[in-house]
Formats: sequence, C-alpha cells, structure tokens
Amino acid sequence: MKPSVAGPSVAKLNADLLKKQNVSEESELLLEELYESLSHILAYPEEYEDPVKLIEGLELKLQFLWGFPQDTRYHRYWKYIKGCTCPKVDNEDPMYFGRRITVGDCKWHWRK
Ligand SMILES: [Zn+2]
Repeated sequence: MKPSVAGPSVAKLNADLLKKQNVSEESELLLEELYESLSHILAYPEEYEDPVKLIEGLELKLQFLWGFPQDTRYHRYWKYIKGCTCPKVDNEDPMYFGRRITVGDCKWHWRK
C-alpha cells in the first residue's frame, strides 16, 4: 500500500498559475521533478540524512522556478513531513505570518 502524503497535493501543477507567472516549459519540467522529490521526502523522511533542511532547500528552489521571491516565510510544505506534530491550521493563519509554530513533541521542528 502506498502511504499518502498529508496536506496539499504536491503532484499537480496549477495551470493557471503557470500561465500567470509566465513559467517556462523548462522550469515547468523542473518543478515537476522537484515536487516529486518533495513528495518523497515528506513521505519517507527517514530515508534522508537531513530531510528538514532538504525540504527547506526545495521550497526555496520551487519559489525561484515559480518566479516568486525566495522567502522562507511563505514556505508551506515543511509541516507535512511524516511525523510532524506542529499545528497545521495555525501555521497557515496570516496572524502568525513569518513565524513557525512548532511544538515540543515534534521530532523534526522543535528547537530548544
Ligand atoms: Zn513539526
């Protein structure tokens, strides 16, 4: 059985957004590859040495290819790593924009 990745689908590119952002065909192919890697890391973090850092790097690359500013405050996939117990809804709330709400029992994101 294939484990499903929690959270938003990272498999399909938004065609309207591609057009709006004027994403080149080359970048589109790269985006597809990166989303595939991202899905895999999110679902199987234990196979990577430092999945949290990898995800951060991928999110920055994705922003670049989409033509968005490379800004970690807009990152959204980090909390969908398997086993993450950080709040999902609060981290999407504009009220907390720029901050990451992490919890003490999250093995990936909690830093003392
Ligand atoms: Zn977490």
